[in-house]
Order: sequence, then structure tokens, then C-alpha cells
Amino acid sequence: MTIQEDTYIYKKEVDWSLLHEGLTIPISIQVVFHKMLQDKFPRGSTKNINLIFNGVEYPVKLINQKFNAKKYPKHKDLIQIRYLPTSKLAVKLRSIFINSYNFIKKIKEERILQGIKKRKIFVSDEFKEYFVLYTTQFENSFLLDCITNEDIKVENSYISKFSEEEFEMDINYNRKDLTAKIEEKTKIVKIRKLDKSISDNLKLLYQHKCQICGLNFGDNYNGKIVEAHHIEYFTKSLNNNSDNIMIICPNHHRLIHKVKPTFDKSNLLFLYQNGYQEKLAINYHL
Ligand SMILES: [Zn+2]
Ligand SMILES: [Zn+2]
Repeated sequence: MTIQEDTYIYKKEVDWSLLHEGLTIPISIQVVFHKMLQDKFPRGSTKNINLIFNGVEYPVKLINQKFNAKKYPKHKDLIQIRYLPTSKLAVKLRSIFINSYNFIKKIKEERILQGIKKRKIFVSDEFKEYFVLYTTQFENSFLLDCITNEDIKVENSYISKFSEEEFEMDINYNRKDLTAKIEEKTKIVKIRKLDKSISDNLKLLYQHKCQICGLNFGDNYNGKIVEAHHIEYFTKSLNNNSDNIMIICPNHHRLIHKVKPTFDKSNLLFLYQNGYQEKLAINYHL
């Protein structure tokens, strides 16, 4: 298949493993990436790939983990990117994500002193940083973007000037009326690209159908008009994880911002102020 360039693959919160040895990519909702790997990269296989960051190539390994198919018949593919702690990439990542590195290292050292056993360390929300992968036109090369705490702070102060609907219009319709200063702009553009890419990937997953009414209104007209909506407002939460986004038609989107129902995530249900309840018609990812 021809490979779509610049398609979102995965956003990973920076943790200790990422800074030293690699990451796992859950591919169940990563539509384009999944298609790209299908048939060509069976379980148990490994291949050399490059991650490209700021124009420099970093060699790493892509692995499709082997499973005992009898024991785990329903197990989904588990794709991993692996590198050594001394590799060029690991060294680079530790220098870029120096804040996460120092934060986790400090907690690790404290735990050793206190004799606390190994447990996963979570970076607190305000210091979180992200590693983001996109496709390139080459099957064995992937584009790496690093979103640092500094980038997020700039986006955060910029975005506070906008309403949630204005922000979502930017993401859905790729409006680029950035009034930011030049040095802020590169950071904001990087985060906008990620937001838009995550939303576009979900639109593909739902084949441009609304998760609330199940319809693809634009289909007869060959127009794709579904929009991404952030369950917890992005302008407040800065949360663009796919589990904070749903894909809905423009009618439902306007309505939701107008009448502000609450979303009951455990029952996948909207509760409207007048007592009306509406369950999601389709859901593959929440
Ligand atoms: Zn709808
Ligand atoms: Zn919305």
C-alpha cells in the first residue's frame, strides 16, 4: 500500500523505560499504522527502523511480540520499539526530556534510601512530557516529535485566550490564525499538529460516523464533516489523549456545547439538563 505521510501513530507519556529502552505501541485504534503493518510484519518478527528527529536518523528495532496463540487466542498484536540505554536515541531523549528524567531519578533515589520496592513512578500532571510518532512516506522511517513541559506551558498560556468551541474549530478545520509570537509559534504548531492528528485518526476509525447518532451525514454528498469533541474541555484539561475525544456530527457538536449535558463515561451516556438520556450509538475506543 502507499503510505500516508505524517499520520499519527502514537503519543506516549515520558517514563523511565522510554528514556532508556523503549515503548509499547497499542495498535488497536491506530488505523493507518495497523494497515501499514498488516500481513507484512507477523508476530515474532523484528526489523530495523529509523526514528527521525530534527532531521537526524536514530536506528531502533521494531518488534511484533510472539505469543502462544493457543494460550492467548484473542490477544492483539503487541508492537514495541526497542533501543539500548546507551543508544544515540536514549541519550538524546534524556537530554530533551531532562525535566522528566530528573523528576523520576529523584523519586527513584529517595525510594532506594527508604528501601521502597520497585513500583511505577508517575510524573505529576503539571510536569508531563510526550513522545509522539508519525508515519513518513518510507515504510522503515518514522517521524519523532518531542513535546516538552516548556511547549505545554506555552500552549497553555496561549490557549487561555480562546473558548473551547474556538479551539475545536482550529483543530477540526485547521484554522491557522495564530497570533502568537514567533518563538511561541513553533511550539504551538507542534501541539496543534498532534491534536489534529489524533482527531483525524479517530475520524478514520469511525469512518466519519457520529458516535452519538451513528450517521455519516456527509456521505451522500461526498463531504466529510464529523468533528472531534473533547469530553473534558481541552482548554481546561489540555488532555488530547484519544480517550478524551469523541467523534460527533456538527449538529450534535453544536447542541452539546449549547445545552452542556454531562457525559457518564462508565455507561457511555449523555445526561441532558431536561432529563433526556442518550447512549452512544457507536463506540470503539472509550
Ligand atoms: Zn450526530
Ligand atoms: Zn466540543
